[in-house]
Amino acid sequence: MDALESKYDIAIAGGGPAGTLAAILLARAGYKVALATQPGSRARFEGLSPRVVAVLRAHDLPLTGVGPALPRHVTWDGPGRAQNVEHIVNRGAFDQALRDHAQSEGVGLCYGAIVAVDVPRGEIRMGDGTILRAQLLFEARGRRAPRAAQAQIGPATISLAGLSAAVLPRAGAALSAQPEGWIWQAETSNGPWIQVVGNASALAGPGGKSSKLARFWAQITQGASDLPQNPVVQAIAPRLNAPQMDPRCPRLGDAAVALDPLSGHGLFWALSSALMAVPVAGALLAGQQDLARDFYQARVIETFWRQTRVGRDFYRSAARAGSFWQTRAAWPDDTPAHPEIPAPYLSERVIIRGNRLERAEVVVIASEPGGAAFVHGAPIVPILRRLGGNPLPDFDQFHAQFMPQRPLSAAQAVHGWLIHRGLAQGLPSPSNLEDRDAKPCTQDEAA
Ligand SMILES: Cc1cc2nc3c(=O)[nH]c(=O)nc-3n(C[C@H](O)[C@H](O)[C@H](O)COP(=O)(O)OP(=O)(O)OC[C@H]3O[C@@H](n4cnc5c(N)ncnc54)[C@H](O)[C@@H]3O)c2cc1C
Repeated sequence: MDALESKYDIAIAGGGPAGTLAAILLARAGYKVALATQPGSRARFEGLSPRVVAVLRAHDLPLTGVGPALPRHVTWDGPGRAQNVEHIVNRGAFDQALRDHAQSEGVGLCYGAIVAVDVPRGEIRMGDGTILRAQLLFEARGRRAPRAAQAQIGPATISLAGLSAAVLPRAGAALSAQPEGWIWQAETSNGPWIQVVGNASALAGPGGKSSKLARFWAQITQGASDLPQNPVVQAIAPRLNAPQMDPRCPRLGDAAVALDPLSGHGLFWALSSALMAVPVAGALLAGQQDLARDFYQARVIETFWRQTRVGRDFYRSAARAGSFWQTRAAWPDDTPAHPEIPAPYLSERVIIRGNRLERAEVVVIASEPGGAAFVHGAPIVPILRRLGGNPLPDFDQFHAQFMPQRPLSAAQAVHGWLIHRGLAQGLPSPSNLEDRDAKPCTQDEAA
């Protein structure tokens, strides 16, 4: 790559899953894209939910390093129980395969340390002097991205992880609450991977780094296994890194919102945030900054608060007395994780239609607080408007009257959706046809 002559439409700082998927999708959309990153050198294993695997498959992406679905055993608020399945992923192999794939799709990969992301000049500067210039930048350096002044940060938490003797008597994957933290263990081809999480303050006290780590490990595992050699130590407090979007450099993945790893939602968020790169870039490059900002901020802020409150409720459900648990059961506040929506109503939000952002009416209901604009590709608000407060006709009439041009299967799906969402009577009253929300929000086109 020629140092000072590298010009792109879009340059992305950080080639983890968020930055790399964004680069692939932007290249597929026809942009000339550069991805600058230094691959992590440490082995690391994480758990993937089946829906992450589904997103990867849906976008024709490699599943290198992703193992088969394993049973997940959870010991949290009483006797342990089997709960869902998870795929154990070797992050080094997975991330590298994704980057190789990006290169094969035309993304310009630039490996090395990023020394500066100069937003006003639209430049990413590398340690070897290379400068990547672009009309638009994306920040995707994960938790290492600079934090904005208004960042929100949860209780200081440390994760220590590595290959060690199993702590929990389980095959597959196992999560367990401990008096002052929690342990996640997963079977890998290299042996059991153990992740031990506790208060950052537990690392304080006398002694050098290795004796502090050994004490931390022994405290959480209660001496059930030895500290791995060369453990991976990470600060993992949940963080809303930048609530405001910089229209010259939107953020993706952990660089925007870094979640508590307990949520198991981090990689899903990283990938789903990358899915917004093409519509957001399209709007920004077309000068529609308000549209991009409203869409982006609603999604980022909503994800952070919902996930942190869901996490808080999960910590509460363990009903433990230790300071680790009390702090996390109280943070961030007492607001319900899911807003109460007593009756459905219509609201204007920014949605994605055909990879473009636009403002549109959505219906907001308890199960879809972000609002629904489409159901199986069909615009749902015109149907609700036509129904008014009248009962939903039987399926044959519904298909003939409301969706005659659409296939039977789509009409069936919409009819079933209206019944299951309690909308078979249409909207309860004409006043609910008015927009009640001042704040804009987001809604993807439903499948
Ligand atoms: C201990 C721990 C356990 C977790 N467990 C799970 C789990 O089980 N399931 C789950 O879904 N999520 C889990 N997560 C969350 C998940 O790892 C992240 O959400 C995900 O990696 C975010 O992807 P990203 O692309 O935004 O950032 P990252 O994966 O952090 O990628 C950022 C990239 O930018 C590069 N970079 C950063 N700074 C520079 C620089 N200056 N120069 C060059 N390159 C740079 C990095 O090397 C990296 O490649 C866990 C996180 C941690 C910390």
